[in-house]
This record gives sequence, C-alpha cells and structure tokens, in this order.
Amino acid sequence: MPALPSSLRVFQRDWLSSNNVLCLGEAPALIDTGHVKHADDTVRLVREALDGQALIDIAHTHLHSDHCGGTGALQQAWPDARTWVPEPSLAHVLAWDEDALTFGTTTQRCARFTAQHALVPGQSVRLGALDWQLHAAPGHDALAVLLFQPEHGVLISGDAMWEHGVGIIFPHIDGSDGFAPFTDTLALIEQLDPDLVIPGHGAPFGRQGGAIRAALAQARARIAQFHDHPAQHALYAAKVMIKYQLLDVETMRHADFQAWLDSSPILHQLHGQHRPDLTWTAWLALILAPLFGKGVLRRDDTHVHNGV
Ligand SMILES: [Zn+2]
Repeated sequence: MPALPSSLRVFQRDWLSSNNVLCLGEAPALIDTGHVKHADDTVRLVREALDGQALIDIAHTHLHSDHCGGTGALQQAWPDARTWVPEPSLAHVLAWDEDALTFGTTTQRCARFTAQHALVPGQSVRLGALDWQLHAAPGHDALAVLLFQPEHGVLISGDAMWEHGVGIIFPHIDGSDGFAPFTDTLALIEQLDPDLVIPGHGAPFGRQGGAIRAALAQARARIAQFHDHPAQHALYAAKVMIKYQLLDVETMRHADFQAWLDSSPILHQLHGQHRPDLTWTAWLALILAPLFGKGVLRRDDTHVHNGV
C-alpha cells in the first residue's frame, strides 16, 4: 500500500462504525465520524491525535448512521467546529428530517447534530492541509460525495467503493433509482485513477499489486449479478440490515426482536422485492435461518444475540 500523505491519519473502525479520516494542518478536519455507539471513542481518537489543537471542520461522505453518528459528540467537544454535509442533505439536517436522512426507514439511531456548510460536487474544499475535489457518488446513497486529492492521488470513497464487496444499493430499495448510478460512480473512480483509496470500511488499498483494479472488477461483477437477479440484492440487504441492528444493540429479548422486525419499513420493502410469494412470517424464517445457522446471530431461550 502506498504511504498516506503525512497530514492524513486513518482510524480504521469496523462495520458498525465507518472509518474516520483525520486531515491534520493548521485547521484540522475529520471526514466521517462513525456510529453513535462509538462516539466517545471517536472523540478520544481525535483528541489524542490533535494533541491540543482544536478540530476545525467535520465533513461527511454521506449521512448514513455509521458515517455521522459521532458528529453530535464531536460538536459538543469542539463547539466552534464547522460541519459540512452533501449539499442536498443540508436542509434535511437542519430540519432533522429522519425520513429524508433514512433513519426512519432503517430504524437506525443517530444522535442529532447540526451543519452549516454544503459539499457541492464540482467544487473543492480545503480540509486540513490539502484541497479536495468533490464528486457526486450516487449508487449506494443517492446524495453521497467522494473526495479526491489529485496531487497525492488519494480518494476517500465512503461506501461508493470498498476493497471487497459492495454496499447496499439503497436507491434500488426505495425505488428511486436502479443499479446504474453505482456503476457510473465506479467509472468515475476509474477515470480519477487514484493511487490510494481510503474506503468507508476496511483497510486503505492502493494501485500497487492491482488492488484497485481488482476492487473495481469485483464490484462491477457483483452489481451485474444484482442487475440480473435483483432478488439477490434484496436478500443481501435484508441480512445486512438485521446484522447491523444486532451489532448496535448486541442483544434483544425475543419479543423485542420480533417487534423490531415487524416494525422495520425497509424489511417490509425487501420482503416484497425478494419473495413476495411468501408470507411475512415464512420470509423472516427464510432470512433468519442462515444467520443463526452460520453463527452470525445467536439465540438462547430468552434472547437473540449478535454472533461472529
Ligand atoms: Zn453508507
């Protein structure tokens, strides 16, 4: 992997929390802030790395709950910090419109925060010591942006590209768009031709050894498969949504777990897209069997638990 520019630090997190990119300089900035569950850890990581400097800017590739859950805590720790969100999201944040922010349909929790500035594709923004180009990155999320630093060849891809696999294509679930924007964003990334990609989840990966080329090929193959068999996307998304909930809460009483499943708008959408021929109960049994079978979730007499 090529070396990161000396002014960048990547805090590699996990699947519940996105990675965080700290841009050092006279005006330090953090890009993406993780899940609210880990907000105290995020503040601590940033505070330690800043070594007495104040955090000046907080920016987001997109506003899923795993990418902006630490923002409220960071704003409390550094009340003068300026917060940047993709342009169309700014009004949603100011009104805290939970449906527009997707926390309503996914039932995912996120601490409220505020924002002052818009990230506008086609413009650039200075974060830390570097100027970053902003590009629209629809596909996984219609409003997402990616940040590209041309002198260093560094791309912050958010969930538009990972080294392995692809994220859920949310616009396909809500019916607002298809799989094509995701493929278009991959073409944009190929055209930007980065030396190093810092993804939203997983380790940074580089051109060396063909890792970026392989990631593009793998993502295109997966999207082609989803395009040909959209029910497979719905199945994948349903499993991810359920696992994500248990990553957050870790354990639930059986009745609470069932009530959460029953009240999840996105799971009902996915039921319709995967196997509308099945009843809700039969469909849930079909989805849950492999999760319990492979130990992704565990259950005992009283509770469902997060597994491996
Ligand atoms: Zn996301």
